[in-house]
Amino acid sequence: MISRRQFIKLTSSAAGIFVSGCQTKPFKTTTAHIVIIGGGFGGATVAKTIKKLDPSIRVTLIEPKSHYTTCPGSNWVLAGLKSLKSLTVSYQQLSKQYNIKLIKDKVTFIDPYKRSITLSTADKINYDRLIVSPGIDFRWDTIEGHNESSTHLIPHAWKAGIQTQILNKQLQNMKNGGKVIICAPPNPFRCPPGPYERASMMAHYLKRHKPKSKIIILDAKTQFSKQSLFMEGWKKHYGFGGSNSLIEWHSITDNPVVKIDVKNKRVETDFGDTFNADVLNFIPTQKAAHIAQSSGLCDESGWSPVNHKTSESTIHSNIHVIGDASIQGPIPKSAFAANAEAKVCALAVVSLVNDIELLDPVWINTCYSLITADQGISVAMVYKLNQQGKITKVKGAGGITPNSKEEILSLEANYAKQWLTNIISDSFK
Ligand SMILES: Cc1cc2nc3c(=O)[nH]c(=O)nc-3n(C[C@H](O)[C@H](O)[C@H](O)COP(=O)(O)OP(=O)(O)OC[C@H]3O[C@@H](n4cnc5c(N)ncnc54)[C@H](O)[C@@H]3O)c2cc1C
Repeated sequence: MISRRQFIKLTSSAAGIFVSGCQTKPFKTTTAHIVIIGGGFGGATVAKTIKKLDPSIRVTLIEPKSHYTTCPGSNWVLAGLKSLKSLTVSYQQLSKQYNIKLIKDKVTFIDPYKRSITLSTADKINYDRLIVSPGIDFRWDTIEGHNESSTHLIPHAWKAGIQTQILNKQLQNMKNGGKVIICAPPNPFRCPPGPYERASMMAHYLKRHKPKSKIIILDAKTQFSKQSLFMEGWKKHYGFGGSNSLIEWHSITDNPVVKIDVKNKRVETDFGDTFNADVLNFIPTQKAAHIAQSSGLCDESGWSPVNHKTSESTIHSNIHVIGDASIQGPIPKSAFAANAEAKVCALAVVSLVNDIELLDPVWINTCYSLITADQGISVAMVYKLNQQGKITKVKGAGGITPNSKEEILSLEANYAKQWLTNIISDSFK
């Protein structure tokens, strides 16, 4: 049993949750069973935070993998700054330390009326509240000639692990003077600065090992996250804008990629322009992961709408959706945000099962990117609920790296590296 005093101490020490208002009732010991689908940044953090807030709640975490490899830091692998092993964590510590029941399996079906989920083994598990944090899937039906089975030749590397390995190997095997094409997806997608950090990290590697090469970004958008800072960094380090630039960026919103010749690594646009690559990194258009789609938790946008105060689905009650799969207003799809949403959701779920007043959440997000091994940039924002229950940006909070002075960029790179260590520990340990 946990006292009201302990609860307030715990909530106020949980980074990413800011609460206002007062608790009116003490906690009673609950027999509630919370089931969580997905052990990524959202799922692992929400499991851990619920147990920290109220250890009497039974928490079951379902995840098909025994180890999780983080996408944050996976672009750094392409520059030789990190190994995939160093980005991989086991669930054992989380499970043991917080008494979380771990089931290594995939959820194939959610029955919101019977409040039960079905595993791939056909076993069923009942829940009082379900938290769904399954991440993203790709829209394979948008490009002619391209589907999931082509990803061993045309890796997206937008889920870290084997895909990152394939892309890295292709980059290392490419000849000096080769051409890399990165196709950046339309909004909304996981990690808005990700494709541009990827170009920076590839350029960092190519500049040293294959300087005659080129990276061409074909972008489905007219603008992108931290654009001015990226372009300034590319100009300084990779000759961006000049005739010998390692990186070129082209917005192709009016003339998008419609076809891929997988064997020849060639993309074709709507007007029939073709681009040949030695390494083709096509990052497909995204949507919430399959289980959220098949359980009817998504709207026509392909993402899950939620009540922002609790992250409870606006389609099915007693089911909460967090992380990349959910619609969280202006908050970007990032690990930082998934971790913050998980803490807000944990607090709401613990309050709901203990029948105590809900508090107004505030969320924080910061996205760091490296331009070189020791120069970084960031964008940060704080968000709150308005009177209408919508998430809004807090005026005067956040912003991007204020200037491009060497010492500031070098500090940002240090922050980026420290942040990665901290978020992995905060979410999985
Ligand atoms: C290249 C790259 C770089 C990035 N860099 C950063 C960064 O620097 N900073 C940052 O904040 N964010 C970054 N991100 C974004 C970050 O990785 C995601 O936003 C974050 O992982 C989202 O967490 P999540 O819990 O929603 O999903 P995930 O972390 O993807 O976790 C989902 C989990 O659910 C499991 N799952 C799926 N379906 C089922 C099912 N049916 N049953 C059981 N389990 C299931 C999956 O196996 C997976 O482990 C980056 C992303 C990429 C691609």
